[in-house]
Amino acid sequence: MSDLDLPRLLPGELAGLSAYEPPGGDYPVRLDANENPYPPDPVILDKLARALESVQVNRYPDPASLDLRKAFAGHFGCPVERVMAGNGSDELIGFLTWTLRGCEAGGKPSVLIPIPTFGMYSIAASAAGYDVHEIPFDSNLEPDMEKVLEVVREKAPNIVFLSNPNNPTGSFFSKEQIRAILNATDGLVVVDEAYGDFSGEKSWICEVESGGNLAVLRTLSKVGAAALRSGFLVAGEELLDEVDKIRFPFNVNGYTQVAGEVFLSNFERLHSGINEIVDQRERLSREMAGLGFTVFPSRANFLFIKCGGREKALWRFLQDRGIMVRFLARLSVAGDALRVTVGTPGENSLLVEKSREFLAEGGKDA
Ligand code: PMP
Repeated sequence: MSDLDLPRLLPGELAGLSAYEPPGGDYPVRLDANENPYPPDPVILDKLARALESVQVNRYPDPASLDLRKAFAGHFGCPVERVMAGNGSDELIGFLTWTLRGCEAGGKPSVLIPIPTFGMYSIAASAAGYDVHEIPFDSNLEPDMEKVLEVVREKAPNIVFLSNPNNPTGSFFSKEQIRAILNATDGLVVVDEAYGDFSGEKSWICEVESGGNLAVLRTLSKVGAAALRSGFLVAGEELLDEVDKIRFPFNVNGYTQVAGEVFLSNFERLHSGINEIVDQRERLSREMAGLGFTVFPSRANFLFIKCGGREKALWRFLQDRGIMVRFLARLSVAGDALRVTVGTPGENSLLVEKSREFLAEGGKDA
């Protein structure tokens, strides 16, 4: 055996990246991963159990995930031919960047992303050899449309990723803003609606057209099925045919296919949980703002909070008391911040109570 010559084999792009490290440790209150705090209702659980039993574990699953895609298409009212299923929407972000890498000889493909945003866009794009054009949100964490449109026109990015609502800020791109971006480029505009169920707005899915430059991503991860790893890409058939060439044949496992179908065909059973999270978001936002923190408007299932430079101290204080929220260090425009997933009413009350204690104790590191 010879020594593996990693420096020779690895592309330069990987040097600047680091592996995703989920926070370790056991925390009774997890408000750091934008999950739904509620388990599915008993009817869904019962149907899930029966669906999972039906899987023939010795056989490969349907390579095209057809029944799962039909359930998705049925729920959103779009043609099944425009739907691709993925092992989470993360995987589909990867597939898109692998597929749309075209560029002129000697040049590089590029993506445009408003920042701060979901880290996977730049990781996937950088790993696939793209230039990443990052456009900071303005100081109110609203999209800087002038700059976005300028760079779209100047750099002609292959892909524009818009997390809508945006993770981690909760910001929302209006219809007019997305239309303006769609009209300004002939690259692909991906509207990632991972948090779309909490926005109270209509999905862009019905706007996707054959041959058009709009694509939409959705996931079941935020509405109560994070363990399934079930995501969806809605795009024109021509683009999906190309993405299909690099998609792994059995990318969605058999258990996820049947379980995802159960969630999608019983989606109305998720609505009360989603409404509760939206109500709790507004309550938590008011109460955290009442403590003197800066809480930005959010259309998602989390809040973006600034604490006057004490973000890290509050994060540690909460962690020591069994509450895990997400600490975001040195973001462009926003600096340090906390992203707090909306939990159950009890979890939210605990968060507010402990945050109040933090302030009463002088707002310093424990
Ligand atoms: N898009 C956004 C904006 C996200 O925040 C996430 C998860 N954090 C994803 C996509 C990926 O979701 P999943 O892979 O679980 O479907």
